[in-house]
Amino acid sequence: MLKFPIYMDHNATTPCDPRVLEAMMPFFTENFGNAASRHHPFGWQAAEGVAYAREQAAALIGADPSEIIFTSGATESDNLAIKGVFERYASKGNHIITANTEHKAVLDTCKRLERRGGEITYLEVGSDGQIDLEALEAAIRPTTILIAIMYANNETGTIQPVREIAAIARRHGVLFFSDAVQAVGKIPVDVNFDGIDLMAFTAHKMYGPKGVGALYVRRKNPRVSLSAQIDGGGHEKGMRSGTLNSPGIVGLGKACALRMEEMEADALRLSKLRDRLENGLLQLEEVYVNGGRERRLPHVSNMAFRYVDGNGLLLGFNKKIAVSTGSACASASPEPSYVLKALGLGDELAHSSLRFSLGRDTDEEQVDFVIREVSGTVNALRAASPLWQWFKEGADMDAEAWAHPSARVITGSIKRDHA
Ligand SMILES: *Cc1c(COP(=O)(O)O)cnc(C)c1O
Repeated sequence: MLKFPIYMDHNATTPCDPRVLEAMMPFFTENFGNAASRHHPFGWQAAEGVAYAREQAAALIGADPSEIIFTSGATESDNLAIKGVFERYASKGNHIITANTEHKAVLDTCKRLERRGGEITYLEVGSDGQIDLEALEAAIRPTTILIAIMYANNETGTIQPVREIAAIARRHGVLFFSDAVQAVGKIPVDVNFDGIDLMAFTAHKMYGPKGVGALYVRRKNPRVSLSAQIDGGGHEKGMRSGTLNSPGIVGLGKACALRMEEMEADALRLSKLRDRLENGLLQLEEVYVNGGRERRLPHVSNMAFRYVDGNGLLLGFNKKIAVSTGSACASASPEPSYVLKALGLGDELAHSSLRFSLGRDTDEEQVDFVIREVSGTVNALRAASPLWQWFKEGADMDAEAWAHPSARVITGSIKRDHA
């Protein structure tokens, strides 16, 4: 039986797994102690829960437990990594390399550092969402202290060539930080195999609670140090003070342990459902997959529906499907997604895009409903659209705004190209 609305926005957040909640509960009530209280069993119990969670989180990413710093989430982890390196390594340089498709938690942190004397290079990406490794290497200067490139993109699912980036960073003696929020617990991530020096992740994107995350900080080859951004009692090796959120941390640990057991089977199942969804919607005319279809997360699809407005689509679904549009709809006049624009989409096409992100609760019945509902809405909106009529009559449309970067222009008409 279908239940509405159907949730296909797991890249925004995921429901907390009941097994995670169950693990957390005692740490609100009987094990309520402060993990920093050394002199009584209340403190010891909490500290034990935190230590266990640290092992679970470290195991998921191939780290040592001593390399895990608990935070309030990935936004804080991103801030701590970038600002912490910027301040700590100021004597070496002030230059950071990132990409223009990073999450705002990275981009806005870099923007602030520009106002504090930092120099930032924002790399561009190709239509497949990947950074250019040669451009990365060419951007490195003697003053470069950090490369900040995300593991997988939250809007398109594009996976960056992390190992290659790490090799370049290593060769030039530059630290490599990766925001791995969307990758950890979804695909195998191993800080040593991948060569990552600092890495951010968060519980609520992998069926854990909101408000708790972690920063991996490498301890050897090289040993990374950071300037703290929150001062106080010296918790978390002085890198992040504040009474530990023991229930949240226990939840993060449990979520990591569950992902370790279940991610492989989930990825396989969800990639099949994602492909079913995508192939179903590609039956429509003038529909494109945004970003490459090759190197991306198994559960994400970002699609452009030419000549249809994304917000019109959402209204058309009548609240039956929860997805994201290609707009940063924080205000009344939504800006088209900067990530889609970076791939080369025009404003119109970015506004015509939807992000589907599947999760553990997604099933075939939901996918088939979404295919029917989206197809029906696209067809209805197009039937009522003069733009669509003109296009069908072969009018020369505004190529800039509506041309998809993955499409090739062949004698005036635009054909789909999945090569
Ligand atoms: C969600 C997200 C964040 C922010 O994580 P919070 O824990 O919500 O602060 C950072 N980076 C990426 C790529 C994300 O998807």
